[in-house]
Amino acid sequence: MISEKMMPLLRNNSAIRMMFEEGNRLAALYGRENVYDFSLGNPSVPAPPEVNQAIRDVLEEEDTLLVHGYMSNSGYEDVRQAIAQSLNDRFGTGFGARNLIMTVGAASALNIILKAVLNPDDEVLTFAPYFVEYGNYVRNYDGKLVVVPADTETFQPNLAVFRSMINKRTKAVIINTPNNPTGVIYSGETIRSLATILEEKQKEFGTEILLISDEPYRELAYDGIEVPYVTKFYANSVVCYSYSKSLSLPGERIGYVVIPDEVSESRELIAAAAIANRVIGSVNAPSLIQRVIKRCLNAKVNVEAYDRNRSALYDGLTNLGFECVRPQGAFYMWVKSPVEDEKEFCDVCREHHILVVPGSSFACGGYVRIAYCVSYDMIERSMPAFAKVAERYGLNK
Ligand code: PLP
Repeated sequence: MISEKMMPLLRNNSAIRMMFEEGNRLAALYGRENVYDFSLGNPSVPAPPEVNQAIRDVLEEEDTLLVHGYMSNSGYEDVRQAIAQSLNDRFGTGFGARNLIMTVGAASALNIILKAVLNPDDEVLTFAPYFVEYGNYVRNYDGKLVVVPADTETFQPNLAVFRSMINKRTKAVIINTPNNPTGVIYSGETIRSLATILEEKQKEFGTEILLISDEPYRELAYDGIEVPYVTKFYANSVVCYSYSKSLSLPGERIGYVVIPDEVSESRELIAAAAIANRVIGSVNAPSLIQRVIKRCLNAKVNVEAYDRNRSALYDGLTNLGFECVRPQGAFYMWVKSPVEDEKEFCDVCREHHILVVPGSSFACGGYVRIAYCVSYDMIERSMPAFAKVAERYGLNK
């Protein structure tokens, strides 16, 4: 019954389920408070109060037929216009409602763009370590994800290798900044160099290469670091945005894609992406939450809470002798495994009731991802367990 394309996904899914079940098994044996589950990227900070208030206000103040009704596949025009204006105010861009399509989160934004541009066997480049779903999304449209190996010094994109991997089949490049799983933010200089390479290669091969910037973590940036807006650096670029983390609304499934006028054949691409929204079965982004977003454009989650977690975890782990990439954004810490096989390290962590994700799940072995979108309390409670792990590897001498 099950398709051949789905079989590997089924097998992979059981690995994720095993991690989840392991958390429950340990909690049943030792008590939830003695299990330190850092495996999931589920926001631990609640949505800002403006969101719940806006839900009530929409239901009380707006026409119910409109609120619950069908709409254009791109989403409500007034909502798109309001978001476009807010982007223009923040980034000096020139977007209008026409440039935005509301989507079912960043996942759907990526899917509709890939569906709109990929022909079978087209290549999509991304940089290790990367969010594992990219491979699935690209395969959905018979494309091929090609992975640029990590620059393990900086975890900024490895541009020299990237340049050598672009060919005439390269249709798109996906970047993700702030990054899951490293927490790194790509600097303006990096984006500028990447754009220059893409322009050169477009000329060399006489092709169009779309830069897709996946930005669910844009608002989670620390120490005042700016996240460059890619459309200002490279004409053929689109931005996939999401409110899953920026407003802690992952279950509401709301985001958008921006396709600027500067993109080659932009009108056709916008139309194709809107049709893709329909034919992949999303039809349009959820209606009520679109109306809510329009009222919450200035709302913010408590980023300071993540920042506090970040410092506690970073200081705690580095004091114990672990080598960590200091995160600039998102809510993940990327930690070097004290042994080559990071899965062994994950097993040792698990023996001490700590759950972390192996780097090989992000195409970058030798590291693990620790998601610090957890309670501050859990980070504090986990430190003695991390200390035992450090001791096991002779780190904290
Ligand atoms: N891209 C990255 C890098 C992510 O980490 C996630 C979710 O964790 C997504 C995309 C999907 O986000 P959404 O919930 O908006 O679909």
